[in-house]
Amino acid sequence: MTDELIPAGTVWLVGAGPGDPDLLTRKAAKLIESASVIFYDALVGKDIFELASASKRLVPVGKRSGRHSKDQGTINDMLVAAALAGERVVRLKGGDAGIFGRAAEETEALIENGITYHICPGVTAASAAAASAGLSLTLRGLARKLVFVTAHARAGEALDLDWQALADPGATLAIYMGKAAAATISRNLLDAGLPKDTPVLLIENASLPNERQFNTRLDLLSISARTALGSGPAMMLIGEAVRIRATAKGLLTVAD
Ligand code: SAH
Repeated sequence: MTDELIPAGTVWLVGAGPGDPDLLTRKAAKLIESASVIFYDALVGKDIFELASASKRLVPVGKRSGRHSKDQGTINDMLVAAALAGERVVRLKGGDAGIFGRAAEETEALIENGITYHICPGVTAASAAAASAGLSLTLRGLARKLVFVTAHARAGEALDLDWQALADPGATLAIYMGKAAAATISRNLLDAGLPKDTPVLLIENASLPNERQFNTRLDLLSISARTALGSGPAMMLIGEAVRIRATAKGLLTVAD
């Protein structure tokens, strides 16, 4: 009986992975089967719901950039109300629930209302993108640091990132929600000292059948993002770790 996995009145925040249902963890699949109600984000792959029996409620709650269907406060309230009503609640988020998923706002609301919650990790988009491209996010001696960063600015606010810290030639930058800010990212990283030919890999719809990959370089990032990317979610991977792949494909000239 999988129902016992989620006691009535408790909430599981579950990472659904990057979209390919095979990248769902076994635990996530069990939790989806066990839930009585599932609140899910727009980035959760449709095929994943084949696991959910018709008897449970599937509630879409958002969120694609610029098309927020529910605000965060409303989502928090819905989770709290469902748990207080004795539902077995799954809150399904794309990728890993704890990476740029506003999980803390939800857990805070649950704590305030005395509701027990747990978190099931998922495969984050950066891992899926690197795996699809056949590359390692870290490189011994060359890319010793991996930075997960979001380039999403709040509405009406400028992107406020520590560019000097990000422009580290020994780091791999995994940039989430970077499409709209591609020009800003490129200009600021160049100004902060990263070389023009720093390799960049753009991956849209990682792990899905309509995945697209595009190798470019930092000074061409803006035009590349505009021309190569469609409307799907996209990752930018920046740094020497990406060069291996670009070189293997003969797309970049390696200086030395
Ligand atoms: N919690 C998610 C990230 C949510 S933020 C995770 O761990 O992956 C949403 C951003 O994630 C998107 O704008 C995009 O940058 C990235 N993303 C999510 N799914 C993706 C996918 N399948 N392919 C490429 N990027 C993806």
